[in-house]
Amino acid sequence: MDSTAAEMLCQIREQVAEKIGGNRFRTWFGEATRFQLSGDALDIAVPNAFVGNWITTNYLTQIADSARQVIGSEPRIKVRISPAIEPVATGIASPRNSELPPAGPSHGAVNGAPRTEAPARLRGDLVSFVAGPGNELAYMTACAVARAPGKVVKHLLLHGGCGLGKTHLLHGICNAINEDHPHLEWRYVSGEEFTNEFIYAVKAGRIDLFRAKFRNVDVLAIDDIHFLANKKATQDEFLHTFNAIDVSGKTVVLSSDRHPRTIAALSEPLVNRLLAATIAVVDPPDYRTRREILRRRAATMQCEPPPEVLDYVARHVSRNVRELEGALFKLAAMATLMRESITLELARRALADLLDAERPPASSEIEQLVTTFFGVGREAIRSKSRDRNVSLARAVTMYLIRKHTSMSFPEIGRATGHKNHSTVLMAARRIQDGLDRNGAVAWRTSTGLQERPLKQVLEEIEQKLR
Ligand code: ADP
Ligand code: MG
Repeated sequence: MDSTAAEMLCQIREQVAEKIGGNRFRTWFGEATRFQLSGDALDIAVPNAFVGNWITTNYLTQIADSARQVIGSEPRIKVRISPAIEPVATGIASPRNSELPPAGPSHGAVNGAPRTEAPARLRGDLVSFVAGPGNELAYMTACAVARAPGKVVKHLLLHGGCGLGKTHLLHGICNAINEDHPHLEWRYVSGEEFTNEFIYAVKAGRIDLFRAKFRNVDVLAIDDIHFLANKKATQDEFLHTFNAIDVSGKTVVLSSDRHPRTIAALSEPLVNRLLAATIAVVDPPDYRTRREILRRRAATMQCEPPPEVLDYVARHVSRNVRELEGALFKLAAMATLMRESITLELARRALADLLDAERPPASSEIEQLVTTFFGVGREAIRSKSRDRNVSLARAVTMYLIRKHTSMSFPEIGRATGHKNHSTVLMAARRIQDGLDRNGAVAWRTSTGLQERPLKQVLEEIEQKLR
């Protein structure tokens, strides 16, 4: 199999995992199931009929969608039994066989007894991470944790938008510990897996096993902890887990899509706990970093786009690294399928739809970002409520829609449920005045009243828009 096909399969698997969740993916598609591209078909080799039926009944749509996204067309999907493939110990065993369902890779001695299976290897590595102005602090801190876990940085929280490398860095820390400190035990899970495991353990009456699993580690990595928002019981358990690990001098590394102060619906003690960690932001990469990421990625794919193509892609795809990689990937796939070499002309064609997506944001997207930021519901800003958070969120939404779209005041009024366009006019004026005065705004959060310069608040929201 050539490296482009291997890369495509890897991306298809990643997309399926994203769609159905890491836990389910590991159970049904982990080591036990193999993907292969043969002609216009996607071959899925499964270890037995049970797994085959399960995949066919439950996941064909997600597999087809993922394949379409990656290859650009939908292949025929063939599920076949290949008994040579043995499920691994943590793979397909039914929940009855194992006391708790598998939650993420880990390595190290378990309760004193060394593990026999090879340590799981996660996808991202610190050496393959390209550092630049947006992510330098996050990268350096991740390296410090990996070099000497529990020493300089005991608790690390990385936050930033989607596709900017947070998971890559958490993976990198775990992989580096695996190699450089093999005697240390680590565990990596997503916030979703942690939550599911907790619920399962409570239902099964085996919270003791859950605690043994998450507290007796040297390094606990939990990705996407914003998933815990609104889940009070899981947050409490996580806080106890965090405290227990801390008391024993061990390390916790976390990622979140927002700064903990702006994750609405996290309990106050948990927010305070998170604020005490070393917090590093991962911002979108600048042009040079994007260019270097592309260059290295192209090298691993063994496709060699000419420099002007790398320039073109790096210049035009700027929102996040996942899209950047996706663009390169699409380009390589098109070149292979159409038997053309990678030229600027092909790049223009391949990226036309992506560039189209760089149109001005929709008003609903702005509304969504602002309501999430201030922790208010969409319905609230469409109401006449004079509540402090609601009226601030409403004014910011209207102002940003005016700034980033070509909508008129009456159109903005209609789009945000306010018939009278003078409401929009006044809201936009209120924000503009605040900016001109270099003023601050205040709103309620779970940790009390927040006060920040208006300019900074708008910049933070606009950053996410891009
Ligand atoms: P996040 O967890 O922040 O949503 P990921 O870590 O999943 O993002 O990154 C998305 C993709 O981009 C991954 O394939 C990752 O390896 C790659 N990536 C992100 N940032 C970098 C970087 N600075 N250097 C190299 N690859 C990166
Ligand atoms: Mg991630």
